[in-house]
Amino acid sequence: MEWLVFLLPVAALSGWLSARRHYKKHLNRQQSPFDPDYFKGLNYLLNEQPDKAIDVFIRLLEVNSETVETHLALANLFRRRGETERAIRIHQNLIARPSLTAEQRDQVLVELGLDYMSAGVLDRAEQLFLELTNRPMPPVEAYSQLLRIYQQEKNWQQAINVAKKIKYDGQESLGPTIAQFYCELAEQERDIAAHNVQSLLKQALSYDANCVRATLLEAEMLIQEKNYKKAVKTLKKVESQDIEYLPEALPLLEICYINMTNLDKFREYLLALSERHPAIASIHLVLSSIIKQQYDEQEALDYLHKRLQQYPSLEGLNTMIELGNFSSEKLIPLMSDITNHLIQQSRRYVCRHCGFSGKTLHWHCPTCKQWGTIRSTEINLNTLDTKMETS
Ligand SMILES: [Zn+2]
Repeated sequence: MEWLVFLLPVAALSGWLSARRHYKKHLNRQQSPFDPDYFKGLNYLLNEQPDKAIDVFIRLLEVNSETVETHLALANLFRRRGETERAIRIHQNLIARPSLTAEQRDQVLVELGLDYMSAGVLDRAEQLFLELTNRPMPPVEAYSQLLRIYQQEKNWQQAINVAKKIKYDGQESLGPTIAQFYCELAEQERDIAAHNVQSLLKQALSYDANCVRATLLEAEMLIQEKNYKKAVKTLKKVESQDIEYLPEALPLLEICYINMTNLDKFREYLLALSERHPAIASIHLVLSSIIKQQYDEQEALDYLHKRLQQYPSLEGLNTMIELGNFSSEKLIPLMSDITNHLIQQSRRYVCRHCGFSGKTLHWHCPTCKQWGTIRSTEINLNTLDTKMETS
């Protein structure tokens, strides 16, 4: 009996031991999806030893290619933090893995190209993206990055070639952008090979019929050739192309009409324009200067005064002051009107901390959440200068 009593704890102990063994086995099976090395790598990463972590992760990849996404995420993180060398190392090692699918390899190549872009090694990035465009189904990113590279290098011909590919691949319309590239080429050629300019501008307009820049360049060429009549015809297109660029065309038109000694025709055209677009101040300004040349100052002042009452503008007021004498009684109420209007319109409450600007005073900035950082602005010409420069 006594002997049996002695055995009891032994049985209990062995039961406990076998249960523990089973439990441990079970625990190990649960852990198995992750290699212990993975935690080692994570540990290095958390201890801010990224280079050791990268080594561990790269070693792991040979065993387990299902973690490609994780490696891509890690490399992305490094690139975003500006540690492009580490990102490049991970991507280069990924590419060397034979287990990658062709699709995965291309994805990694795109990422590696982006690494080179942010490292500023444009020629290597270019090489890589060019290689990718030779695929039967080239990744879209390859073209858009090449377009970025060629614009940065001001390599307009190459930029045009790539942009045309994107256009034909059914992406968003790059027509107006391609037109700008042709204008850049035309400006380059203007001093070297003027005979090429005409056809380049034609190309620009074929990609964007409303490319005002091409029209202005064409008109400048025609004025140089003293072909004023044709220049006028060209410049008149700007009104329908994009009315907001009309102020750029008016000085060129004036040159043409002065050289043709036909200011009457110009005045007629400007009058018709001002009826169609009464809110565009520059039409009234040029018109008043023509009236002054053809008649006298008083006539010009009367015209401008009438227009400014309907459509007050700072530019108009300035011209009136230059045209007239300061004692003119008409000037004072007009000045008061325009400056008042300007102040009402431009009064803003601006956050000193983040630059948020609004019409009402918030004590708590809705954008950067700082307290008491929003102040009212005044139109101080000194601060206006600095604001214009930074924006
Ligand atoms: Zn703020």
